[in-house]
Amino acid sequence: MTEVKVAVLGGSGAGKSALAVRFLTRRFIGEYASNAGEHTLEIFYDPCSQPQRGKLSLTDELHWADGFIIVYDISDRASFAFAKALLYRLRESHIGVCKKMVESSIFLVGNKQDLCHMREVGWDEGQKLAVDNKCQFCELSAAEHYQEVVAMFTKVLRNITSNFKVK
Ligand code: GDP
Ligand code: MG
Repeated sequence: MTEVKVAVLGGSGAGKSALAVRFLTRRFIGEYASNAGEHTLEIFYDPCSQPQRGKLSLTDELHWADGFIIVYDISDRASFAFAKALLYRLRESHIGVCKKMVESSIFLVGNKQDLCHMREVGWDEGQKLAVDNKCQFCELSAAEHYQEVVAMFTKVLRNITSNFKVK
């Protein structure tokens, strides 16, 4: 039995809780177990929000995580800047340790796609940030796109568990 630990990071209000709750309350863990076998998924969201709220406090504390979901709100440019800074800090803190693993285990998520009429961050900007940092990218809506949320978590999990096999 392998335990997988995923940290969900991002600015306040980006939708970290909404994503985690959306995923977990639809009993996806059960569905996943029947599809993919011997892995369990633990989600720890927002581990950096306290006590330094709004500040980047990415430290050694995050080294327990096997994968990272970095969330921003497409209708909030400040949340994109926060995600960008988080991404750089994350890469910085792991580079030289196991670069390949980290790159395939980070997912950049542009949340609140249902608010595209209030969009402040272009899809291409998210895509470029992901390409520049060699991480995965998608836009979705925790509010409206349950299947996409499931697909995103599934991909994160698959990438992490395939890294376990490589190691
Ligand atoms: P967190 O601080 O990152 O955990 O953000 P929350 O999950 O608490 O979400 C902040 C606010 O955004 C809440 O009012 C949510 O209902 C709302 N929210 C989260 N995801 C979405 C989404 O996909 N679409 C819309 N329209 N609202 C969302
Ligand atoms: Mg929250």
